[in-house]
Amino acid sequence: MARKVVLEPGRTFQEFSLLPGFTRADCSIPNINLETRLAENLVLRIPLLSSAMMSVTGYDMALALGKEGGLGVLPVKLQVAEQSDIVRRIKNYEMAFVEEPITVRENASIDEALRIVEQQGHSKVPIVDRNNVFLGLFNYNEYLKMQVSRDELITKAMLNAEKVLHVQEPGLTVVAAREILEEKQEHYLVVLDDLQRLVKLAFKKDEEKIKVGVAISTHEGWEERAEANLAEGADLIVIDTSDAFNEFTGNAISRYKEMERSVPLCAGNVVNYEGAMYLMEKGADMIKVGMSSGSICITQREKAVGRAPMTALMKCDRARKEFMRKTSRYVPIIVDGGVACPADMVIALSIADAVMMGGYFNRFFEAAGEKIDETGKSMREVATWGEGSLRAMNIDRYNQTAKTFFAEGVEGTVPYRGRLKPNLKRDLMKVRAALSNAGCYNLEQFRKESIIELNSPTAAYIIGSAHDVKTK
Ligand code: IMP
Repeated sequence: MARKVVLEPGRTFQEFSLLPGFTRADCSIPNINLETRLAENLVLRIPLLSSAMMSVTGYDMALALGKEGGLGVLPVKLQVAEQSDIVRRIKNYEMAFVEEPITVRENASIDEALRIVEQQGHSKVPIVDRNNVFLGLFNYNEYLKMQVSRDELITKAMLNAEKVLHVQEPGLTVVAAREILEEKQEHYLVVLDDLQRLVKLAFKKDEEKIKVGVAISTHEGWEERAEANLAEGADLIVIDTSDAFNEFTGNAISRYKEMERSVPLCAGNVVNYEGAMYLMEKGADMIKVGMSSGSICITQREKAVGRAPMTALMKCDRARKEFMRKTSRYVPIIVDGGVACPADMVIALSIADAVMMGGYFNRFFEAAGEKIDETGKSMREVATWGEGSLRAMNIDRYNQTAKTFFAEGVEGTVPYRGRLKPNLKRDLMKVRAALSNAGCYNLEQFRKESIIELNSPTAAYIIGSAHDVKTK
């Protein structure tokens, strides 16, 4: 018989409910702060990371998520030069032109502009005539302050062209645009041609640099990979292995600590008390938790190894509490795998400091997987594949060799959801709403004060969704 047989079943996010707490009048959605501190020098505005997967995180995803205040982790399967080049581009990203922006005509309704805002997540929509001559701008934030119905003509909510900073210089360079914006102390600039036709928009970004992380392995060459990315300004180094409770990972953590770099190190993945304690004692600045719960993962099916994500999280959390008692050092936990929607995020964040997701981000336009156009009209699906799939064959992550390799991940597709920004905003609104219900203003308070409750399968059915009705 095995040394121990655990008969307590493993738990996942959907099995729990968050109980409401007392909510003060000012603890409303706009006042909820989702900032998370992963290290002294790494604070994210939102507690989300995109997985170090070839189908998920490349330049576009890391940039889009970074702009929203999260962090993309670039996969180790990228060549060192590719990975560090993306880090360089992201760290140098200051300003962008939006070429061929989506516009509306002067006879459109406000509703049409609002739909563009909802789909694209941009707050400004240029208004042009039939010859693309720039007439003015619809600014969503200004519109919210107006008492104008969405059925009205767009011109009712238009900022006229003469009131908008613009230049007639179609070949305007980034450097020149930046100078103009700085001189005029403006955040955006409309670029027109000689005939007043719209060419592009230029936006000044916040002073804050976009954050980006990189995955490394524990196999030969990882130091060079880490150095190359640190040289370009990477904000987080992530040791990415499917099972980190081993000597390789322990040695890599020790070695990285000897390098005395200020950039924090995340190590994972682990799913039990002992594994979490091992990584923390070795000096990991944060740990990543999860095994076999990823949407593309077949590890459990193939070799019966893994753990349900909430159980893994609870056990690792116990280890970090014990570690903190002994050392006074708080080690943030990133939960990785199986978080698929805002409700999962809420339950996960009652314990974890941040959430890493693959499948969730895979659905967006900015994901690295190719978009599949089945109808010839619009995108329907996005390709996805696990790092342990035949397609990625990330053998280092699974501590395999080409000879011993067997797939621990599948290849498939996920439904396309559109752009990251508007979807993320909507989903995070739900997370904020949950914190508000719990009476918590921020994630630290949420981890300390929230109460979650396990449901029986019958109760989960009753409260989990609409029931006993035929839905439309
Ligand atoms: P998801 O958010 O449920 O899609 O899970 C994403 C996570 O699954 C990643 O961050 C990895 O930790 C893990 N993962 C990625 N590729 C594979 C694979 O091929 N097999 C098993 N797990 C994987």
